[in-house]
Amino acid sequence: MSNYDYDKRLSILNVAKKLGINILKRASSEEYIARCPFCGDSKNPTHGHLYLNIEKDAYHCVRCGKKGYAIGLYAKMRDIDRKEAYKELMEKEADENIILTPPVKKVKQNTVAPIGIRDRTYRAFLNKLILNPEHLRNLIKRGLSWEETAKNLYKSLPEEPQQRWGICRELIKEGYNLKGIPGFYQREKDGEKYWDFVDYKGFLIPVKDVQGRIQGFQIRLDEEEFGKYVWFSSRNKLNGTPAHAWQGVHGEPSKVVIITEGPLKADVAHYLSRFTFVSVPGVTAIKGIEVVLKELEAEKVYIAFDMDVLTNPAVQKAKEKLERKLVEAGFEVRTKTWDSRYKGIDDYLLAQRKQKQKQVV
Ligand SMILES: [Zn+2]
Repeated sequence: MSNYDYDKRLSILNVAKKLGINILKRASSEEYIARCPFCGDSKNPTHGHLYLNIEKDAYHCVRCGKKGYAIGLYAKMRDIDRKEAYKELMEKEADENIILTPPVKKVKQNTVAPIGIRDRTYRAFLNKLILNPEHLRNLIKRGLSWEETAKNLYKSLPEEPQQRWGICRELIKEGYNLKGIPGFYQREKDGEKYWDFVDYKGFLIPVKDVQGRIQGFQIRLDEEEFGKYVWFSSRNKLNGTPAHAWQGVHGEPSKVVIITEGPLKADVAHYLSRFTFVSVPGVTAIKGIEVVLKELEAEKVYIAFDMDVLTNPAVQKAKEKLERKLVEAGFEVRTKTWDSRYKGIDDYLLAQRKQKQKQVV
């Protein structure tokens, strides 16, 4: 038995295939996206939240938070112990389509620049971008006014590489240091390095802190192949900087604050209701949320996750964990529910507004 065979049978991709997990796409040099067998994943069968990391032979569902390593995944799914799982995996031939990719060359990553520097650099960056008519239409359809889209600083990412390089050159000329700014990284050509930023197609959604400073961006993607949203992050790129899972503040300090999933949803819900919202990037991404709520002077906190996810046991568990955490921190906690015909609180508020307009007419 060669080492090669040994690795192959215990590789995360082989384990996933043996378990019948639906692997959708390669997401990066070391990650694949698959359908999560624990939470059932999103309704759309082409979307997946289970990340399979071939470098670490690990899995992580960003929807329900389940994570671990290849043998553990097999053991959990088969309801056997790890020893048995190992034995079973070793007894079977590896899936013939599994190709072991050589380990990715590690690139040095920068730490994230302080918020003040990030905010200034991102604002200068946004000043060089425009919002496409299609993206503006998309935002208006969600219920935002034209003024609100301008206020929230949504901008479309340029499609031409020359535009991206030009913007980076201008920023550097104006004195901005792109090192430590998530989304920006360097390319190397003929021994020369130059700055670039990630080339997604879509629009930027600024994720702001309590003081209104831009912490980072989520991107609403035009093509939903890998899901609808990604972070503006240059993880694993030359001189790149990984984005964090930032929580956003949408509105002024207030005694009542509503927590929802996703910054764009929170922007829309805030605009339609005038309530103050805090957005989490995922139901499990709640680290430090009590600090944000305290800074907002919140007393009463509503949790308003999507209605369809509330019926999901894994998400229900994540919600209960959040509730406990908030109660322990001294907040009065309530769950906000609405007509389940509407998936998100933004959809519900928009339907309500349309209803009211009809009544007026
Ligand atoms: Zn999951």
